[in-house]
Amino acid sequence: MRFVAALLLCLTLPAHAEGFISRLLNKPVPGGVAVVQLGPASQAPTASYQGKPVLIVHEEGRDWIAIVGIPLTTKPGRQQVQVQDADGSRALAFEVRSRDYKEQRITLKDTRKVNPLPEDLKRIDRELAEQTKAYQRFSPGTPSNLLFDKPVDGPLSSPFGLRRFFNGEERNPHSGLDFAVGAGTPIKAPAAGKVILIGDYFFNGRTVFLDHGQGLISMFCHMSKVDVKLGQLVPRGVAVGQVGATGRATGPHMHWNVSLNDVRVDPAIFIGAFRP
Ligand SMILES: [Zn+2]
Repeated sequence: MRFVAALLLCLTLPAHAEGFISRLLNKPVPGGVAVVQLGPASQAPTASYQGKPVLIVHEEGRDWIAIVGIPLTTKPGRQQVQVQDADGSRALAFEVRSRDYKEQRITLKDTRKVNPLPEDLKRIDRELAEQTKAYQRFSPGTPSNLLFDKPVDGPLSSPFGLRRFFNGEERNPHSGLDFAVGAGTPIKAPAAGKVILIGDYFFNGRTVFLDHGQGLISMFCHMSKVDVKLGQLVPRGVAVGQVGATGRATGPHMHWNVSLNDVRVDPAIFIGAFRP
């Protein structure tokens, strides 16, 4: 009976029930974000996608929503989130649409950054494990703002998801969004966050991970200088460090990753710059 009641409720909801956050963030493509409407509830529901906890917020004046990161490798079609609330557990479906990602060819003089030496591989593995663990954090607390500020003022350069070839060899797709800004430009927190990892990595160079809450995590890399400490709470708009060209970079630029439920998604979505 509960199912029928829920179904009727869905059918009677007006088409404009979605709020501003839902409309802005709902880009259900590979490497995008799905906003799933969870309906009213007196207490916050919890939800998971592919076994990982998902960001849940209450959209102002509206209902609960789940904000789900969709892996770049996802095929178009039906996906589902598992929701738990006072009524029990239920699955809610959403459709993933297709999106084309272009190719990028990059020439690096430092061939060791394309084909690392055996001694580099150990370091790379260790660094990957450390960063993966940071992305898997799921801390309580609602992000200060879901509509992010741009971390730097400057034009976008390489978009998220580009298939990349270094010196003709295919490597991982571009996991973030680049801004064309000069060395030394301050990188500002797009929302309040806690510094959960600082590193100086083989590929990423000087790097800061900022935890905005509930699995929403920013990563800035290739930095020339880090201006925060591990565990520091960084208010929205305060600088975490400066733009540089450390790690595998052809020149100074700001590279920004955004992760949701341990999935790297297109940061352009969060600053209203998404192009289908
Ligand atoms: Zn980049």
